[in-house]
Amino acid sequence: MDVMAKELIPAVIVGVIGAFGVYWYIKFRFILPLETRTRDISRAFGLFTVFSREVLDHIYIPDSIEHYGDITNHYLIKLHKIFPESSMLVFENSQGQWRLINYLKNFKTEPRLMTVYKWGVFDKAAGDSEIVRLENISSSSDAGAAGLFRTFDIKAAMICPFMHSGAQAARLLLFGGARRDFFDTAEPYLHFLVSQLNAVYKISEKVFALKKDNDQLKSELDAVVRELNMTGSRLIQRAKERKALYEVVTLGAGDEKDIKAGCTAIMNVVARMMDADVVACLLFDEAKSELVVTPGSYGISDDERMLYSLGVSNTASSSVRAFLTKRPFISADAQNDPEVITHYAKLWDIRSLMIVPISLHSRVIGVLRVGSRNKGVFTQDQLEFLSVIADELAILIEMVTLYENLSNTATELAQLNKLKDEFLSTVSHELKTPLTTIKGFVSVILSGEVGPLNEQQLNFLGVVDQSVNRLTHLISNLLDLSRLNGKVEMEFSAVNVKELIKNSVSTMLLKAKEKNITLASVADKSLPSVHADTRWIIQVIDNLILNAIKYSGPGSKVNVSGHNKGEVVVVCVEDNGPGIPVEEQKLIFDKFYRCKASVSQVPGTGLGLAISKSVVEKHGGKIWLESKPGEGSKFLFALPVAKEKGEGKGQ
Ligand code: ADP
Repeated sequence: MDVMAKELIPAVIVGVIGAFGVYWYIKFRFILPLETRTRDISRAFGLFTVFSREVLDHIYIPDSIEHYGDITNHYLIKLHKIFPESSMLVFENSQGQWRLINYLKNFKTEPRLMTVYKWGVFDKAAGDSEIVRLENISSSSDAGAAGLFRTFDIKAAMICPFMHSGAQAARLLLFGGARRDFFDTAEPYLHFLVSQLNAVYKISEKVFALKKDNDQLKSELDAVVRELNMTGSRLIQRAKERKALYEVVTLGAGDEKDIKAGCTAIMNVVARMMDADVVACLLFDEAKSELVVTPGSYGISDDERMLYSLGVSNTASSSVRAFLTKRPFISADAQNDPEVITHYAKLWDIRSLMIVPISLHSRVIGVLRVGSRNKGVFTQDQLEFLSVIADELAILIEMVTLYENLSNTATELAQLNKLKDEFLSTVSHELKTPLTTIKGFVSVILSGEVGPLNEQQLNFLGVVDQSVNRLTHLISNLLDLSRLNGKVEMEFSAVNVKELIKNSVSTMLLKAKEKNITLASVADKSLPSVHADTRWIIQVIDNLILNAIKYSGPGSKVNVSGHNKGEVVVVCVEDNGPGIPVEEQKLIFDKFYRCKASVSQVPGTGLGLAISKSVVEKHGGKIWLESKPGEGSKFLFALPVAKEKGEGKGQ
């Protein structure tokens, strides 16, 4: 047993050593490389997984080409971390040439690079859309590209086309390094990256197109909104202008008959409308040959106004030029404008300035100046609007001038009329006394008290007597009129009209009889008293009856009546004489008017009806006429019923 054991032990030792050797041989020869390879593969797989996940996690749909470039860079930075020794250059096709738009490499100092390259290999790769391997870079015939590769120390490279539009790639990624042994490792990354970049770009193309449409729509919409806003503000502006114009027109057509008040009102509207600090109207003064600021200007005191007058020969002045050339003027900064007399602009601290001519019947009568303390605030639209205002101002000025002329004439006429009345009154008074003397002596002679008269003397003296009567009548009418025109004192009381009519008729009966005219009177039973001055009302009734007798032919009828019309009593004197032509009816109550038909037929003064009208109106009543030519006339007047206690009762 021991021998066997002794023989077996070495054999076992050899066997164990042999097995150990075999084990380590197999381990070193096969297992360890296999394990290393498995670890490498698993590490590479892990890296690739991390990379691809990061890429997939960061798939954004870019909304612009710049954004697409940013996403590409993001992926390349990730890739460069995996291949830090590599150089990555991105080129973009730019009109047939390749422009270097980005690169990744850790340079110690940044190289100076040519940015545009023309290289056939790039063109071919872009056209074929395949990854191209360049294994022997040094053989490149292109000097520019060779220089670039030297700068980046690239001996081998892979060209990866991406971002296809149509069949051509618009961009290239050049992945290069000093050795070519990383090609196999890098290629799957590059394939994956390029396919992702292409996929992203394909989707983005649609997004770009949509975004472009969207942008276009937005800009169109913006344009429409802008246009709407502008139209809106223009409409508001127009509405404001209309309102201002309306105000100006109403002012012009209103009661402003004073140039200062009218101008003040218009200048205020303009200042408010234009947001102006000074608004002045300068009118041409022919006598002085100057443009003078009218009173009522806005923002200019009366003292300052006096300082401002411009000789029309002073063509340095923009106002004078606008006046002479009839052309409007606008300045954005009058204090620095060679076309403006800056002295005046500074006097009122004016920056923006507008001047328009004021024309009346195509004749320029002045200018309208509008100023603002702010620069460049007035627009062409405002200038045009100001011209419209200037036209309105011209109308106002014309109206005021006409009104002034008219009121001057009216004042002169009133003075003349007063003089005439005074003259008539004086002359009448002066005539009355000698006429009374003549009348007295003629009556005495006619009565035969101073001796007998022959027939001819009697006739002549009769004519003298009648003429004196007429003259006396005229003078007493004139005196009545002048009294009525002045401050005649009426002595009012409650007057019984029926009584007045009766008395007048009985006084006139003889005259009527002489002409073979039937004169009668009638009155309503209950006729209230009127509020009147008896003396003057008797004169009115007498005058109307006398006219009816005077102007009606023999055999006519004259009827006088009184009517109760409630608030008033109406007296009517009616005849069936010749009547009064329609066209003369409205003139008949005028002083000295006599109808054409009667002027040469019947003597008269043309004052009776004027006096009657004045008397009736002084009683608060009314007088009128109803007449049909050929059929007769009706003269009527109404007097208010007496209101006071005891006055209104019928008698
Ligand atoms: P006079 O009688 O003194 O001329 P009046 O003022 O009384 O002045 O009358 C003015 C004119 O009116 C008269 O001249 C006459 O032509 C006309 N007229 C007045 N009354 C009548 C009448 N009843 N019929 C016709 N014409 C009349």
